[in-house]
Amino acid sequence: MTTLPDELVAKPLGSDMEQRFNRFIRAETALHPRYRYRDMLRRAGLRPTHQRMTLAHILFGEGNRHVTAEMLYEEAVKANMPLSLATVYNTLKQFTEAGLLGQISVGGGGAKSFFDTNLSEHHHFFVQDEEALLDIPAAEAMIDKLPEAPDGFEIVRVAVVVRLRRKQS
Ligand SMILES: [Zn+2]
Repeated sequence: MTTLPDELVAKPLGSDMEQRFNRFIRAETALHPRYRYRDMLRRAGLRPTHQRMTLAHILFGEGNRHVTAEMLYEEAVKANMPLSLATVYNTLKQFTEAGLLGQISVGGGGAKSFFDTNLSEHHHFFVQDEEALLDIPAAEAMIDKLPEAPDGFEIVRVAVVVRLRRKQS
């Protein structure tokens, strides 16, 4: 019987080597929270570049939210991340195409796009004067009757934006 070198012998769970390995992984993950998004990006078919991981961290780090390219750009600048508004816009577009974000366009003066981290089907309030987008709780979004799709077409998705303004007192 050949004797394997010590380091190649499978150690029982919780061995020193395993603990060291786990500590190393934890340390690497804690190095910067952006690494949490590496696998998410890979699964979505996107190369996990430094920029994408950092923007993903800003986007997905704190629960569901709606952002415009301008809002995300400002946050990236505050996080000391040098990049252009065009890069932020392209990244948002890539994330949306990869299915990581929803996109809601609100009309008005210039059409404005919000990107939504909440991928469940839901509708929105848009506060016109404040340019703020809010989720309508699922239970309240009642659409009794959808129109028939024209011949040869099918409905993909129904996205309602209810526009609001503050009551004039
Ligand atoms: Zn939403």
